[in-house]
Parts: sequence; structure tokens; C-alpha cells
Amino acid sequence: MVVMAKPQAENLFFGTGFFSLAEDAGFPVPNPKGIPMKTQIELAREGITTEQMQTVADDENMDAAMIRDCVAKGQIVIPNNPFRKGQKVVGIGRGLSTKVNASIGTSSDICDIDMEVRKALAAEQEGADTLMELSAGGDLDAVRRAVLAATTRPVGNVPLYQAFKETTRKYQNPARLDPEYLFDLIEQQLADGLSFMAIHCGINQYTIRRLRKQGFRYGGLASKGGTFMVAWMDMNKKENPLYEQFDRVCGLMKKYDAVLSLGNGIRAGAIHDSHDRAQMAEMIINCELAEIGREMGCQTMVEGPGHVPMDEIAGNIMLEKRMSGHAPYYVLGPIPSDVGAGYDHVTAAIGAANSARHGADLICYITPAEHLALPTEDDVREGVRVTRLAVHIGDLSKYPERRDRDKQAAMARRDMRWDDLQELLLFPEVARSIRDSRRPEVSETCTMCGDFCAMKKGMEVFNQDISGDKISS
Ligand code: SF4
Repeated sequence: MVVMAKPQAENLFFGTGFFSLAEDAGFPVPNPKGIPMKTQIELAREGITTEQMQTVADDENMDAAMIRDCVAKGQIVIPNNPFRKGQKVVGIGRGLSTKVNASIGTSSDICDIDMEVRKALAAEQEGADTLMELSAGGDLDAVRRAVLAATTRPVGNVPLYQAFKETTRKYQNPARLDPEYLFDLIEQQLADGLSFMAIHCGINQYTIRRLRKQGFRYGGLASKGGTFMVAWMDMNKKENPLYEQFDRVCGLMKKYDAVLSLGNGIRAGAIHDSHDRAQMAEMIINCELAEIGREMGCQTMVEGPGHVPMDEIAGNIMLEKRMSGHAPYYVLGPIPSDVGAGYDHVTAAIGAANSARHGADLICYITPAEHLALPTEDDVREGVRVTRLAVHIGDLSKYPERRDRDKQAAMARRDMRWDDLQELLLFPEVARSIRDSRRPEVSETCTMCGDFCAMKKGMEVFNQDISGDKISS
């Protein structure tokens, strides 16, 4: 077990209050039943291939030892709270297929627990790999527990939402948030079965100074948890307790082997804010914390930007990977334009394909309702579908050797084997429904070209010459 040395003097980022519990950071930490338990990363460091690592290897058709080595280095995380039974094992990180997260949750305007459960199930049916339960309205404990009971997917959240909402309900003033209540709440939410949490540890007074000094922010502040934490720090003239007591955050996450996702509270909400000094200050700190967290035996990933122009996506991902030692990168889109509202699921899908291509590991979907309203169940379905397509496209470039499914689909289309083709498509029911709604006169063709079908004519004339299979992937 490696325990980071305690900083001796105040430095640019950390200050003197950091590592309040560093001496207690060793493992094993007793779990809620009082039994010493080790995290996936610690077990991997001992050379143990866990059941979860084996499952990831089987699902991804990879060598289990390779998965274990990447978990040991903090380059793959497995959000799998052992106190929630029956959840799907999902690997996120280096060498693995890019995963899709679907965020759901109530708001103060629309609060219907049954609808959130239906949205969770819809996201799961459409193939989301993980869920985030981000409710901010109604009975927040009840909706979280209902979603956890309904889905098999690993579920994450942002604990600051409930912390600030409950504080506001009690005192009509979010600035009265008590850090002790926040830490208690994090533990209570983990005990419910959450497997990952976006926690805004990377915002500190240094970040705020960078934000104030730069003199612009075209998109304002886009992160709810981040904005309220910045406001809390400003009004109380105190350091962010999640930063100041980072080891305490890690200790709680380790207790439930939950993945700490270092939240991007100062992310850009407009492409003109992309990579500004405030966002970069937080990114540097988050990458530093990712390193410290994994040294403490805590599974950790870094969260990335909101709005980023297309030409900056590759650089953004390169920076996160280089500065964090290849910690898994969880990105929100990104959204590469600010004028697509109504079709921002498509805007974000373009960003997602590019971010997956350049190395993003988990991508949060965007729905057609983004920037406009709380998503409906249909919005959730659409968001998951387009994001799954986007990450598939990205993975074709990230892993060129994994293109066989597309090749098989192309050959089935060429040979007009429609039933085989349907089985290879990402959305077979959608494709079948469209085709069935407009049947052609000649069954091999479709109504796009009818008797002018290039596929049919091409194969009649050139079948012998173009039916070879020479490309291996
Ligand atoms: S009719 Fe046109 S679109 Fe349809 S299979 Fe033939 S070539 Fe393709």
C-alpha cells in the first residue's frame, strides 16, 4: 500500500489543510458490516484476478491478466458496489469498448418517481452501460432507491445535489451546507448501493481566483454541483471541504469500492470557454487527485468538458490522459456547437464519436431535450441510441482491428440477406419497422431504388469478382 507523503508546506494547489486523515489512509477499511475489505485496485495490485475482472475480460474478449494489470494501474475501473447484489459488471477504461452513461432524475418542476423508474428501464433496454440518478426534486432518497431497485446497471450520482437541496429546504440558504452533513450523506447514498459518484473535489480557491481573474465566461457556469460549491466557498470564505478532506472522500469510496469520478465543476458551457484558464486549473487538480486517489487504493476516473469545438477534442483527451497517467476519462458529450438545441443529441453524438475515437472511456449521453427541458422516456431512448451509435463509430477508429461486425453487415447488405443484416444492426427493430412500412415489389430490393437497385444489378454482373474476403477486420 502506498500512502502519499503529506505536503510539508502550502503550495499552489493544495494548501496546508490537505490530507487531514492521510495517516488513516491505509487499507483494509472496514466495510459497513465491520469486515475488512479490499478494493478492486488493491486486489489487482496483489495479483488477484477478481470475478469482476474476469467478467470484464470475457465481455470484452480480452485477457484477464491484462484487465487486472490495467485495474492495478488505475487505467480501468469497475464500478461494482459489493453491497448491491445483481448488478451488471461493467469495465471502463484503457483498451475497452467505450461505454455509454444515461443520466435521469427529477427536477423541482417535474417530479414523478414512476417516470424516473421507466426512464431507467428504458435506458437499460436501449443498451446504456451505466446510469446516473441526478434527482433534484421531491423525495430524493425515495427516487434513488426506486431506481436502484429497478435497474441492473451500475448507478452513480452527484451527492452535492441532495446536499444543497436538503440544506436549502431546511435553512432556505444553500450556503449553510454543513460539511459534516455532506460526508454523512455521501456515506448514506453509498450504503444504498451506488457504484460511482461524481464528486467536485477539484474546485478550490485557486480555481475560483482563476475564474474571477480571466474576465469572461461566455457560457456562464454549467455544472449544478460545481456552481453551488463555488458559491458556498465564496460566501463562506472557506476551502472546498471535498478538496480539503480528499482523503476522507477516498476513504468513503473505498469502504464501498465505489468509483470516484472527479467532477468537472468549472466545465465550459460554451465552445468559446473551452480550455479557459479556470477549466484547465480544475483539470490539472483533478488529474493530480486521480493519481493520489489511486495511490490510496480508490478506484478513480476524471470527468471532462461540456462544450468543446471539434478541433479541440483530441487535445483535451490527450491532456487528461497525459496528466492523469491514463485514468479513465468520463466526458459529457462533448457538445461541439452552441446552436443545435432541439438536436443536441446529434450535436453531442458528433462530439462523442470524436471523443471516443481519441480515447474517452465513458460518455454521458445527451437527449433531444438538452438545454430545453427535463427529458422524457422517449428522449432517453433516443439519447441512448444516438450515443451508442456515436461510440461505435468512435471505437471503429480507436480499435481498427474490431471492425468485423461492420464488415459482416456490409456483406449481408451487398448479398441482400436482409434477415442476416437485421441481426447485425445496432437498432434492428427500428430498421425492420421502417422497411416493413414500405415493402418493395421485388423482395430483395427496397423502395429506395426499386427496380433500379444497384446492389442487385452489381451482384448479377460482378458476383464472381467482388465476393472475396481479404481484409481481416
Ligand atoms: S434498392 Fe437501392 S437502397 Fe435499396 S438495396 Fe437496392 S441499391 Fe440499396
